[in-house]
Amino acid sequence: MSDLFYVTSPIYYVNDVPHIGHAYSTILCDALARNARLRGAEVFFLTGTDEHGQKIEQAAKARNETPKAYADKIGGEFKKLWDDFDISYNRFIRTTDSDHELGVQKAFEIMRANGDIYKGEFEGQYCVSCETFWNESQLLEGGACPDCGKPTELLKEENYFFRTSAYQDRLLAWYASDESLILPKSRRNEVIRFVENGLEDLSVTRTTFEWGIKLPKSANDPKHVIYVWLDALMNYVTALGWGTDEHNMRFWSNATHVIGKDILRFHAIYWPAFLMSLNLPLPKRIAAHGWWTRDGAKMSKSKGNAISPREVADAYGLESFRYFMLRDVPFGQDGDFAEKALIDRVNSDLANDLGNLLNRLLGMADRYFAFNVAAADLPCFDEEKKQIDAIAATLDPLFEAMQMHRYLEELWKIFAIGNKAVNDFKPWEKMKTGASDQVAELLVFMANLLLKGALALSPIMPKSCDLIAKSLGVTIDAPTRRSLIDRAEWIASFTLAAQPPLFARIDAPRLTEIPTNAEEKANLITIDEFKKVELKIGSVIEAKRVEHSAKLLLLRVDLGEDVPRQIVAGVGEFYAPEAIEGTQVCVVSNLKPAKLMGFESRGMVLAIEDKNGLRLARPETATANGAPIK
Ligand SMILES: [Zn+2]
Repeated sequence: MSDLFYVTSPIYYVNDVPHIGHAYSTILCDALARNARLRGAEVFFLTGTDEHGQKIEQAAKARNETPKAYADKIGGEFKKLWDDFDISYNRFIRTTDSDHELGVQKAFEIMRANGDIYKGEFEGQYCVSCETFWNESQLLEGGACPDCGKPTELLKEENYFFRTSAYQDRLLAWYASDESLILPKSRRNEVIRFVENGLEDLSVTRTTFEWGIKLPKSANDPKHVIYVWLDALMNYVTALGWGTDEHNMRFWSNATHVIGKDILRFHAIYWPAFLMSLNLPLPKRIAAHGWWTRDGAKMSKSKGNAISPREVADAYGLESFRYFMLRDVPFGQDGDFAEKALIDRVNSDLANDLGNLLNRLLGMADRYFAFNVAAADLPCFDEEKKQIDAIAATLDPLFEAMQMHRYLEELWKIFAIGNKAVNDFKPWEKMKTGASDQVAELLVFMANLLLKGALALSPIMPKSCDLIAKSLGVTIDAPTRRSLIDRAEWIASFTLAAQPPLFARIDAPRLTEIPTNAEEKANLITIDEFKKVELKIGSVIEAKRVEHSAKLLLLRVDLGEDVPRQIVAGVGEFYAPEAIEGTQVCVVSNLKPAKLMGFESRGMVLAIEDKNGLRLARPETATANGAPIK
């Protein structure tokens, strides 16, 4: 392992509070950072928040706050959660930090000076929610965003562009240079195919909103702000002082980015292209993990099944939560948060396999040897020792390949060997026959294997492993790890100490149940929300069919206003125009105007749908036009 190790989580966008996926990314990074430290590397672990962009500007406006105040609040929730979770980050960067802003401006200047940034005009379908432009070919049916499914809008603006197209060959050469540059490998292939199909230049500024980093003064173009992706990606080097105080830039020589699969393209294509333009080294690894579902369903606020990481950690303990997340999901695949699976993991892996093994050791050490055990080097467990060291030797490559679930699976084989040894050896019978030196041999063997296990498990469950080591009279640190894991050494004697059971069995689920009628519940609105809808009675004074449409009728409706409204109604399959003319209908009068088949519709006529189709909703008796429906 290299002497320096730099690991970054994504910087989390402050438009949402922390969820399980954020926790997974961060905990995975924390495990990588702790593992590297324990292997003697000097580590810089970066996490933080992405705070600029149109979405933040809009969210803040809706709450009557400044974007900065809004970012402070949500960003603060992330930082507090990671602090409460003992995440061992070295810096929590915010893209509103002044050194970051300076670095981004400097990057813009360099890229512009070397011809990689130029001014042009951009026109495209834009998703406000994802802050992404899409090609026609990428859009879903009806022009919806392929990432989030929301409608996109046509946007035309003067933009600065980054010459991504110039880097196609160098990017392909880079992907080819290292098979495990992008993990999992299936995603690497996706990226290569995408780049092989040709790259378009990336628009890197916006004029449609203000909440972003301004262009450097040298550009003399104050109406532009730097697009969030150029801003955000730069955090990985500005956090190390690039562009300002570069004393931590040495960590950049060995950088690992952990990200969600949804942002892989930005990290595997645009980011290295930016770095090439800045003449900076490229990251060593980009690891893209999957998404989390709950009981097989996508988590969302509207479904009422989203779960906060804090809630799980409070209910089951942070370390069990960490273990579950890293043990249950093959890296790169989507994970499912099922409470039952978590309980099974705690009961079988933690309470039973690991916890009981420690309890058995400490119990016997206390009862038979007053906690002092020393081995006489009897050839009792030679075979088992060989097996354990062989397993331990396979672990590091699994960790480096991000195969945490396999790593933990292998590691648990060590504990299984320990449990089997106790069962087969029957120390309680040996004590009766006076073979206490053989029992001491067993206990020293158990203490060693538990310590080796704890050293390997420590990056994932640091607190529990510290307690295990403490009960064995040893400290978890780099020298101990080198001796017991790398050099496969065995300690000859231990002074043990009592330790209350680390993992209690769990008998019943502890989380608040998902509301059974989640959808119904999520659909409730407040009276204030309802009051936003203006409903009025109106008379249809004219109705005709919209040409080439079986469904649409073009109505003129008198809502008691100066001029009747033109409204397009989708009831043509159920009403002839003459059957509607002269009757009264109920109208949503404050609906945003929309164009249907080329006709503007300023309102919506209400209809009732059942198995026979649509019938218009009407007042019971003749009513004044414009009368409100309440
Ligand atoms: Zn979108």
